[in-house]
Amino acid sequence: MDKVDCIVVGAGVVGLAIARELSGRGREVVIIERNPMVGNETSSRNNEVVHAGFLYPPDSLRGRLCRPGAEMLIGYCRERDIGLEVHGKLMLALSEEEADQLRTMMEFGAACGVAGLGLMTPGEVRELEPEVSCHAALHSPGTAVVNSHDYMLSLLGDAENAGAVLALNSEVVGGRGNVLTVEDQNGEPFEIEWRVLVNAAGLGAGDLAGGMEISRKSASAEIHYAKGSYFTLTGKLPFSRIMVPLGETLAAGGSFTIDPGGQGKFGPDLEWVTGRDYRVAPEKASRFAAAVGRYWDGLDVTRLQPGYAGIRPRTYGPGDPPGDWRIETEDDHGIPGLVNLLGIETPGLTASLAVADYVAGKLAH
Ligand SMILES: Cc1cc2nc3c(=O)[nH]c(=O)nc-3n(C[C@H](O)[C@H](O)[C@H](O)COP(=O)(O)OP(=O)(O)OC[C@H]3O[C@@H](n4cnc5c(N)ncnc54)[C@H](O)[C@@H]3O)c2cc1C
Repeated sequence: MDKVDCIVVGAGVVGLAIARELSGRGREVVIIERNPMVGNETSSRNNEVVHAGFLYPPDSLRGRLCRPGAEMLIGYCRERDIGLEVHGKLMLALSEEEADQLRTMMEFGAACGVAGLGLMTPGEVRELEPEVSCHAALHSPGTAVVNSHDYMLSLLGDAENAGAVLALNSEVVGGRGNVLTVEDQNGEPFEIEWRVLVNAAGLGAGDLAGGMEISRKSASAEIHYAKGSYFTLTGKLPFSRIMVPLGETLAAGGSFTIDPGGQGKFGPDLEWVTGRDYRVAPEKASRFAAAVGRYWDGLDVTRLQPGYAGIRPRTYGPGDPPGDWRIETEDDHGIPGLVNLLGIETPGLTASLAVADYVAGKLAH
C-alpha cells in the first residue's frame, strides 16, 4: 500500500490553495480529484468576486479570513499578472429596514479592518450609477473580480513545482483508520495511507467526513445544497460597478456582476436542492427581471439568457439562521492529522489563501 505524508481530497480552489501551502512548506502532497480536471465544481461556478470582507460577523471564520484572504489574493494576482478588475460594489437597501443591515455591515467592516467603506444617499448613488434607484447604499470601492480559472491553474503550478502530485479521475469512496479507499477511472479500488488528510471535497465533504470511520467522532457533517442560477445580460452594461441588493431581492437573482471578460450577468438566486443538477430553468427569467426591476427600471427581459449555475455547500439548511464554515481539526474531533472543511461557501474563493494558511498553521502544531 502507498504511504503519503499529506493527502488533499478535492482540487477546487480551496484544496489547491492548501496543497500549494503544504507543499511550499516542504511537505509531500498528493491531491485526489474525482473529475478529469481541476476546479470543475463550485470553484468554476461562482461570481468570481473578491469580497472586501464586511459581510460576515467579525468573530466568525468567514469574517476573520475574508479580508486577509482578499489582500493575499489581490497581491498574488498582481504579482503573477492574473486577470483582476477592481470595479467596486454598491450594496443596495430598498427600504429603511434594509438600511439598518447596511449599518451593521459598516460595523462588521470597521471591526474587520476594511478600508474605504461609505454609506450613500440615493442622490450620491445616482452620481455614480445614474440608472439606479434605492433607499440607501453602502459603497465598497475595493471589491474586485478575478479570473478564477487562471488563478487555480497558477495555484496548481506552484504546488506541482514544489513537488505535489495531482491524481485526476480518482474518487475517494471510503476510509478506515489512516487508510483511504480510492477508485480510479476504471472503478478499480486502491488504498493509500496518510499522516495528514485534508478533506476539501466541497459538496462531497460532508459525505466524506460522515462516511469514513475516522470521522465518526465529528459532530453532524450534513451539508445542505443551495443552488444559485445566473442569467447573462446581452448588450451594453448598464452599470460600471457590482450591484448587490439585500434579502428577497438578492435571493430572487437581483445581484449584478461583470465577469472577467466584461460580460454582465444577474444572479445567483437561491434554490435549495438535493443533487448536483446544474441546469438553469429558462422560465426563471421573469422572476430575475422582477427582482432587478426593484432598483433598475431599464431592463428588457428578452436581454436575459440562461447562463450557468453553481451550488453552495452549507452547514445550515432552509429556515435556519445563516451559519459559518466549519474547519474541524484534531482539537474538534480528536483525530491527529485530519482536517474537515465543511460548508465552504462564499467567500471561499476570496479567502482561499488565508484558509490555506490557517489549515497549514493548525497542522504545524
Ligand atoms: C453561486 C455561487 C457564487 C459564489 N460566488 C463567490 C464569489 O463571488 N466570491 C467568493 O469568494 N466565493 C464565491 N462562492 C464560493 C466559492 O465558489 C467556494 O467557496 C469555493 O469555490 C469552494 O472551493 P472548494 O475547493 O472548497 O470546493 P469545490 O470547488 O467544490 O472543490 C471540491 C472538489 O472536491 C472534489 N471531490 C468531491 N468529493 C470527492 C471525492 N469523494 N473524491 C475526490 N474528489 C472529490 C470535487 O470534484 C471538487 O473538484 C460562490 C459559490 C457559489 C455556489
